[in-house]
Amino acid sequence: MVRPAYRSRSLRRVYRRTPGGRTVLRFEKRRPGPARCARCGRILHGVPRLRPVELRKLPKRARRPERPYGGYLCPSCLSKLIKEAVRKQG
Ligand SMILES: [Zn+2]
Repeated sequence: MVRPAYRSRSLRRVYRRTPGGRTVLRFEKRRPGPARCARCGRILHGVPRLRPVELRKLPKRARRPERPYGGYLCPSCLSKLIKEAVRKQG
């Protein structure tokens, strides 16, 4: 039987292939929920569901869309925001 701490389901189970060809069961921390838009709460695409430690291993361009408010607002909220700003100006 495995270690008592590994019997609970608080850790997710991942099957990993070792360099020797064996398949080994590993226990990893669960992934966070998807990133959401700050205004409407819609799920943001292009933002990986990874823990902050894993996220730091990625290049910056893989962490969020490369546009203003990328990874913070969804495209439709951003378009509304820009339109509002333009209307206020003119
Ligand atoms: Zn939104």
